[in-house]
Amino acid sequence: MALLVQKFGGTSLGSIERIKAVAQRIKSSKEKGDDLVVVVSAMGHQTDELTRLASEITVDPPHREMDMLLSTGEQVSISLLTMALNELGTPAISLTGTQAGIITESAHGRARILEIRTERIKNLLDQGQTIVIAGFQGTTLGIGGIAEITTLGRGGSDTSAVALAASLEAATCEIYTDVPGVLTTDPRIVKNAKLMKSISCDEMLELASLGAAVLHPRAVEIARNFGVTLVVKSSWDNLDGTTLTSNKKPDFSQGGIEHRSPVDGLELLENQAVVALSNIPDRPGIAAELFESLSEGGVNVDLIIQATHQIDSNDITFTIAENELHNALTQCEKLINTIGGDISFQKDLTKLSIYGAGIMGRPGIASSLFQILSDSGINIRLIATSEVKVSCVIDAELGKKALRNVGEIFKLTDKQITLNPTIKNNNEPEVRGIALDKDQIQISVKNVPDKPGTASTICSTLAEKNISLDTIVQSERKHKDKTKDISFTLKKNDRSDAKYALKELIGNWKGSKLEEGESIVRISAVGSGMPFTKGTAGKIFRALANQKINIEMIATSEIRTTCIISEKYGEKALNEIHSCFKLGKNES
Ligand code: ADP
Ligand code: ASP
Ligand code: MG
Repeated sequence: MALLVQKFGGTSLGSIERIKAVAQRIKSSKEKGDDLVVVVSAMGHQTDELTRLASEITVDPPHREMDMLLSTGEQVSISLLTMALNELGTPAISLTGTQAGIITESAHGRARILEIRTERIKNLLDQGQTIVIAGFQGTTLGIGGIAEITTLGRGGSDTSAVALAASLEAATCEIYTDVPGVLTTDPRIVKNAKLMKSISCDEMLELASLGAAVLHPRAVEIARNFGVTLVVKSSWDNLDGTTLTSNKKPDFSQGGIEHRSPVDGLELLENQAVVALSNIPDRPGIAAELFESLSEGGVNVDLIIQATHQIDSNDITFTIAENELHNALTQCEKLINTIGGDISFQKDLTKLSIYGAGIMGRPGIASSLFQILSDSGINIRLIATSEVKVSCVIDAELGKKALRNVGEIFKLTDKQITLNPTIKNNNEPEVRGIALDKDQIQISVKNVPDKPGTASTICSTLAEKNISLDTIVQSERKHKDKTKDISFTLKKNDRSDAKYALKELIGNWKGSKLEEGESIVRISAVGSGMPFTKGTAGKIFRALANQKINIEMIATSEIRTTCIISEKYGEKALNEIHSCFKLGKNES
């Protein structure tokens, strides 16, 4: 007999018929002899509907009242499902997040789970009850004894389910949804998206945080950190779905479920070089030509960055191993001779990276990294961020000092620090899946001082407001007054808070101004084999160029390549890139 946690999403509970069908499925699992904890979302689009009601009253509802409102959605579904189970003769009881002992921090609307006090659940399980728990919600411990209802953020019932599975040491956490599992991309947009039998937690973390709504990124983070076996499958059939495994041992000693330090390790990769092409034409096809020719020249590019274009010209910067510099420059010169532009390069660089699940989801982490580098007098030549890693390219001679100071700030032991790591090539695909994120806006801070600490000040200003930045790009180009531009994307929801905070900050920088770009989407390809494959980026850029889609920004990290493009091309681009890697059914 095993303990299973099963989570049913809104679409699986969209009507009374569906609720009855879910009850039937739970009854069958129970009859196989397993103990069951069931986590549910609100019915259908109830959370959207409640949000709409609030918006008819105010544009800026207090976060606390939103939590009071939204948490009612899940309370409806736990009670109805429990009634349906009891009707079928399966003894069941419903619990709200508070009653289930789900303790969270106090940040309304985005609270993280600190711990789950499981005594009551365990007692009920001992009595043979099936327990139906409201996902997406919890309670604060309450300062002065007054506890408050909190919610975890949209899509958060996945996180409730995995956190329960970790705390109860359940054999498996099954996420039942309206698709057969995790697919190569969103099947609502790409018709021939293909089911994956399995995917690594790191790849899934990237995909989920880059817009693959099928799993809440924080759910994957907990599964990864606590070794929870996670299965995503359809609630309409009995097929196997997709399995995510992690071989980590659950370790509750490091702080709360979602409140441990996300930094698992630090590494330094020496002998890096940066090549920057500036004043190159801003038109579809240029990035494709450049990275195709680098790949033809046998150059394996690591990080790529392209800042927002300036009127009609562009800068593209990339990093490579120093011993590939000669080849890279030869290829670049050939290209520049035909298209125009300037080349510059810098040797003797080092890439310093911190890694761990959910780094970018915690805005304070990247900002502490930038801050400690700036406090150590180290200028960051280039930044690359992803959900599992933040990398900074810095001067080689400052590498060891940076390693020491960063290790100290994140309290890392010698074992967690690696010099020149070698990553194993397990022959994983260069691209496993593609995600489209329509929930981002692009902001540029123009004319910022080019000195250590600028990026860190921007990040920490936003981190104080709990706002995460994504796709941070520092332009290579300096203005006449020696200032630079920094661009990034952030969630639409954070737009007004971010603008408010940034306006205050740039008041201190003479001539600096804030610019919101046109409506954009973020399209990202993710795959563990990417660092071992030459030319992946070139293929992506070519797929976009073939459709005459201009790329606004490019940002990569080891296992992902992200392009920011105009919103109007999002779905076309997704289809194009998906088929260029032959990811669809009957394509490989
Ligand atoms: P639930 O209500 O069950 O939580 P969600 O709507 O949150 O369901 O998530 C499932 C949806 O995620 C699917 O209907 C699909 O459109 C979308 N989706 C986006 N990317 C992917 C992907 N890579 N694989 C599967 N589904 C995806
Ligand atoms: N009902 C919540 C939402 O729609 C939580 C969830 O579905 O996971 O975001
Ligand atoms: Mg969901």
